[in-house]
Amino acid sequence: MTDPVTLDPIAARRLDGNAAGGILAEVFAVDVTAARSRCAGCGATSMLGAHHVYADAPAMVLRCPSCTGMVLRVGMREGRILLDLSGSRLLEIPMPASSGGGPATEDDGELG
Ligand SMILES: [Zn+2]
Repeated sequence: MTDPVTLDPIAARRLDGNAAGGILAEVFAVDVTAARSRCAGCGATSMLGAHHVYADAPAMVLRCPSCTGMVLRVGMREGRILLDLSGSRLLEIPMPASSGGGPATEDDGELG
């Protein structure tokens, strides 16, 4: 029997979104794997930990589990963190319980 992963070189490279938790913790002071992102391409909302991660490119790339569109890229260069969120229409990051919340917002998932 043939393993389908060996037939698909892209699938063979793919990790789950939790693989991005370490580098994203450098950017955000909270664990963002529980954050939810709305894909700018297809509109699907998924937890970052459920995204597909490609860590072998110059930047780590998170792709939408629904449409495989690029949602987020993060990399480090010359002492700086570069973050491209152009593929995420909205990123919802749960606040730590000890932070006491923040300003009240409407719960429609949109900003402003
Ligand atoms: Zn998508």
